[in-house]
Amino acid sequence: LSRTFHSLRPIAPLPPPSQPLSLTEYALSLLSTTTAVSNNTTALIDATTDHHLTYPTFLRQIKSLSSFLQSHTTLSKGHVALILIPSSIHVPVLYFSLLSLGVTIAPANPLSSPSELSHLVHLINPVIAFSTSSTATKIPKLPLGTVIFDSPSFLSVLNSTIDTDTELRPVETSQSDTAAILFSSGTTGRVKGVLLTHRNFIALIGGFCFLRHGIEDHEPHRVSFFPLPLFHVIGFFMMVRTMAMGETLVLMQRFDFGGMLKAVEKYRITHMPVSPPLITAFTKSELVKKYDVSSIRSLGCGGAPLAKEVAESFKAKFPNMEIVQGYGLTESGGAVARMIGYDEAKRHGSVGRLAENMEAKIVDPVTVEALSPGYKGELWLRGPTIMKGYVGDDKATVETLDSEGWLKTGDLCYFDSDGYLFIVDRLKELIKYKAYQVPPAELEHILHTNPEIADAAVVPYPDEDAGQIPMAFVVRKPGSNITAAQVMDYVAKQVTPYKKIRRVSFINSIPKSPAGKILRRELVDIALTSGSSK
Ligand code: AMP
Repeated sequence: LSRTFHSLRPIAPLPPPSQPLSLTEYALSLLSTTTAVSNNTTALIDATTDHHLTYPTFLRQIKSLSSFLQSHTTLSKGHVALILIPSSIHVPVLYFSLLSLGVTIAPANPLSSPSELSHLVHLINPVIAFSTSSTATKIPKLPLGTVIFDSPSFLSVLNSTIDTDTELRPVETSQSDTAAILFSSGTTGRVKGVLLTHRNFIALIGGFCFLRHGIEDHEPHRVSFFPLPLFHVIGFFMMVRTMAMGETLVLMQRFDFGGMLKAVEKYRITHMPVSPPLITAFTKSELVKKYDVSSIRSLGCGGAPLAKEVAESFKAKFPNMEIVQGYGLTESGGAVARMIGYDEAKRHGSVGRLAENMEAKIVDPVTVEALSPGYKGELWLRGPTIMKGYVGDDKATVETLDSEGWLKTGDLCYFDSDGYLFIVDRLKELIKYKAYQVPPAELEHILHTNPEIADAAVVPYPDEDAGQIPMAFVVRKPGSNITAAQVMDYVAKQVTPYKKIRRVSFINSIPKSPAGKILRRELVDIALTSGSSK
């Protein structure tokens, strides 16, 4: 018996899929229906320098940069650009420019280690990189080199006015072309490049903007602060959404909690997309009392599970702020379920209802049977925002996307009879440290290169502040006395800081299935019941 859940939202009008259209053209056409340009509204603010960029300047910079790239480089449609830049008000300009030229953008964490970067470069084959002077040295040599984003010459390109010789030559983009490659380890294995099309984001943004026009029109001008990076799927699509709606976005180059509170007070922030650890920090922090945060109306929370108790103690402390939950994956282009309006936000524990144009199934992991409301199973998703696949990895693509277009999320979920989605557990091996992805397979691969380690497995260990921390089970080689600190140090030197191993336990052998698969559940149980060295 097939049971499919359909979105209960009104159908958002979208451009026909066959119409040539880039995400930039679409977002700017939505922007043109607002008063942001004619009112000279502030588009972007750098909280670190207090630098403001208005919408007319934002549009001019996109044009200047696009025409510069067209006339001074051989960068063209279909090329991939690796982007390694911390949050900055120039990043949206860069994204919109490259997308308007049909260039695929691949933004990654600027703190990635050199070995992580060479893996990414190998995966996506970029022709050019954009980075800051401090990260440029880590990037392997690319055909068109690396553009230093914070150099005076580059900034002068942004601020130049285009002359008639370098007028923009329009680039026709099909909606089915790849707009971005974002990174995710999916349900298993090492990090992979997720291919997301212009259409994926057009459908996502179109739905968001349509409903906001209808339901939340009475709201004051939104001023958002993004503590999330612009290279993660949430930051990426929320940024495009914010610009398309003509709202104001405040960014901070290096996030810190105190700096964020200062920015909230100074710019009268009304909205913030956050991950659960930030809600915990808000609830626990004494520092919050020192600032006027009364302008905040809602925190859009996603990326990892938010405990009901955390949400409730937050509400007790900040009764005038709503937590609006959303759920999604890099593979789904962004939020595929969310709460709309403050009534839905009252459903603590749920992540909201299915987004416009989406379908879902709850599938029994053993019988692969689709289940009814109230029953738990793996969430499968289908709809216009779902990725095209993993770049250069047909095996992983086929394992994740079935022949009918269903994306297997690896999340254990259920729907209630009102269509609210609840995330119960993660079936996949992924660990989320402060909502950042930590693929265990990648850390296990590094541990196996240590000559003193015979075998290793990495599992999530619960942590109040971070949600989960990566914990390693290590089998020492005979005669080795390697310590927990040495194991942690060995890995820390080779990975982005959030992927560090933060707990180690030594064991005689790693439990495995007859097929050699690590029995991760068993290790999690061992970790929770026995002592281990931190
Ligand atoms: P990412 O691709 O980094 O966005 O990670 C996606 C995964 O994060 C999902 O498959 C879930 O396991 C988890 N996740 C995202 N949002 C939520 C949420 N609101 N509640 C629980 N888990 C979430």
